[in-house]
Amino acid sequence: MGRIKVAVAGASGKMGQASVSAIRSDTDLQLVGAVARRWAGRDLGEVMAGQPWGINCRADVQECLDADRPDVLVDFTHPEVGAQHALWALAKGARPVVGTTGLKKEDLAAIEEACEKSGLGAAVIANFSLGASLLARFAMEAARYFPEIEIIEMHHQDKVDAPSGTALHLAQELAARIHTVNRPASIERLPGVRGGAVNGIRIHSLRLPGVMARHTVVLGGPGQTIEITHDSTDRNAFMPGLIIAIKKVVALNRVVYDLAELLDDGP
Ligand code: NAD
Repeated sequence: MGRIKVAVAGASGKMGQASVSAIRSDTDLQLVGAVARRWAGRDLGEVMAGQPWGINCRADVQECLDADRPDVLVDFTHPEVGAQHALWALAKGARPVVGTTGLKKEDLAAIEEACEKSGLGAAVIANFSLGASLLARFAMEAARYFPEIEIIEMHHQDKVDAPSGTALHLAQELAARIHTVNRPASIERLPGVRGGAVNGIRIHSLRLPGVMARHTVVLGGPGQTIEITHDSTDRNAFMPGLIIAIKKVVALNRVVYDLAELLDDGP
């Protein structure tokens, strides 16, 4: 098989630009398309690096799917449109790798249904960093002994969704671990708190300048607490996981939500 052809939606954004650079640096991948509304009609290389790459920035995802024919569509856009982009990709035979967070339950159900119908796979992963995956693994272990848990997440002030996708995913996993019955997870909004609760696990969301992304799981027991923190200080933290997801999604025929499932040694 030749190189995997990849397009990036949200290419002019913070994660989109980091993804473009990471994809272009990987010899198994070929960047073939970019959706960047504010750069539409311009060559992506001219804007990002001052020299042409032969990639015409598109104004919308459907135009990119039709013209550039990617095998994989990476999406780092906005919660309102991320799922629609994934559905358009699946309809055109491209596999979506969705990094956009804040997608609704019904969006995820629609992506699952489209995957089932098309026989194609998708990766919808709230956090591509290996460290966040390890945080979840360690917290799951600690939760066996300390079932009283709260989560604190801090992000930069421009983040549009709260709680973060990572915190929600963590809370759902932890709730399933500590409740003997795997009750369906739903977000309960708490008055006066930016955040919410998932099956009794409270999430506190802070939005402040100077922070990029930090998640802390706090576990309390009589006379002791444990805090497990993961800090992302640079968007490059997400790139190795993103590249793994792009390479693995082409062989999937279902939706994967957890980076751990795509790592060589599994969850
Ligand atoms: P950003 O605001 O810098 O970039 C978003 C980009 O999406 C912009 O270029 C914007 O023009 C574009 N966009 C917005 N609406 C669009 C639309 N309707 N059609 C096409 N493009 C559209 O944001 P960011 O920091 O790059 O984050 C993007 C998303 O990635 C967020 O949901 C964020 O939470 C998520 N994120 C995920 C991970 C992960 O590991 N999965 C890590 C960091 C951020």
